[in-house]
Amino acid sequence: MILAIDQGTTGSTCLVFDHDGTLQGRAYREFTQHFPKPGWVEHDAAEIWEVTQAVAGEALDDAGVAAGELAAVGITNQRETVCVWDPSTGEPLHRALVWQDRRTAGRCDELRRQGHEAMVRTRTGLVLDPYFSGTKIEWLLQHVDGLAQRAAEGRAVFGTIDSWLVFKLTGEHVTDPSNASRTLLYDIDRGQWDDDLCALLGVPKASLPEVRPSIGTFGTTRADALHGHEVPVAGIAGDQQAALYGQACLDPGMGKNTYGTGSFVLMNAGSAPPPAPPGLLATVAWGIGQRTVYALEAAIFATGAAVQWLRDGLQIIERASDTEAMARSLDSNDGVYLVPALTGLGSPHWDPYARGTIVGLTRGSGRAHLARATLEAIAYQTVDAVRAMEAVSGTPLVTLKADGGATANGWLMQFQADVLGVPVVVPEVPETTALGAALLAGVGAGVFSQQHVVDHWQERSRYEPRMGEDERETLLADWQRAVARSRGWVQA
Ligand code: ADP
Repeated sequence: MILAIDQGTTGSTCLVFDHDGTLQGRAYREFTQHFPKPGWVEHDAAEIWEVTQAVAGEALDDAGVAAGELAAVGITNQRETVCVWDPSTGEPLHRALVWQDRRTAGRCDELRRQGHEAMVRTRTGLVLDPYFSGTKIEWLLQHVDGLAQRAAEGRAVFGTIDSWLVFKLTGEHVTDPSNASRTLLYDIDRGQWDDDLCALLGVPKASLPEVRPSIGTFGTTRADALHGHEVPVAGIAGDQQAALYGQACLDPGMGKNTYGTGSFVLMNAGSAPPPAPPGLLATVAWGIGQRTVYALEAAIFATGAAVQWLRDGLQIIERASDTEAMARSLDSNDGVYLVPALTGLGSPHWDPYARGTIVGLTRGSGRAHLARATLEAIAYQTVDAVRAMEAVSGTPLVTLKADGGATANGWLMQFQADVLGVPVVVPEVPETTALGAALLAGVGAGVFSQQHVVDHWQERSRYEPRMGEDERETLLADWQRAVARSRGWVQA
């Protein structure tokens, strides 16, 4: 059996797969989101560990895994989120700064003004945006009392969520290149932490984890950390890269979109680092032995998060799934558009100062309009991402492989196919991210082969486009007008 830990932004999912790749057990729990100021988002790393450890136990129980039956653990995680802890006690020294956190937007502007963007883009494949870990680590070093001193003396270390979990499970301070490639500190071509970038952001290299191939050995779990199981952690990848793997996009040109808290379109770019194209990111998909596979990425920050906001902020729905019937209850959007720039805009705009915007309200607008506009926005943002990627690759998308929580919404998937103009397919195992982690660990532990990954992929549902081109182009043009109104709202 293989345990896949998927530590997401909203919650931790653990799945247990057998040696055929069949799902045998599962468990899920949400954890607390902290919003200390507008634009700030934090997680309690200790709570993440406690919740994840408990969920792992529940999934192992659900699958009835006995002592000696677990072969390996795979980890996939919300990316870019930064943890800091004392390596001797394993205690966090501050709350984790979450990928959605915008507090370093001004610092990113400053770095851009100083002319650093070209180097950042060439070496890391990223853009200067508060999304990535580097400026968050710099913020912690500058604002947490005594932290810079501690880090210099080796009494504070940093890591993304994968590193934090592996440290708690095994005591090793390690990461994989897919996670490292999201930090703003990692040279994706040379495959190592970059001295210049570490110096620019004042990050001591010794406080960063050792980078090991995504498929391989990261350490052995301590029995007391994993319910009595002492097994290798044999696979690690950031959630979007794990989903790319779980969708069996193993050849160049193959791609997917994951509909979670945010949405992320990734396309396998082969084993040479691609130049980072306008509006998009170049990133590491995974490392196997000495070989690195790269991906092109469009990162959309708020999609499912906007549905959560309807539920928790506006309180106009009880469950995320309520949006489906509400959207269906209307024949059209009646001109109402919602731009969910709740934490700024990512690809292809990269505007940390954009904010959520609703346009087109009339006296007749109601809850259903907001629900529909939210789902439509998820689909429009994906169209923008796919169009940007097609412009770079020069090849039109033939089908979109979709996964993630919001693929449960049939109305959304149909609307996505309609506005994209190509079929959308959802695989048999919708938790592609966790499946990807299990497959990485299974290949790492020698339980599966890469071919198994390809053979295992199965289509569950397919949505064919039904909308006429005129209607599609009108909707997309109105969407662009709405996006323009959301841009640059917060004054720097
Ligand atoms: P993550 O891994 O980012 O935590 P998941 O893949 O678990 O995300 O998906 C959860 C997200 O999907 C939530 O943001 C939720 O609002 C959204 N979601 C779940 N079910 C639906 C649905 N039926 N319709 C629309 N959105 C949904």
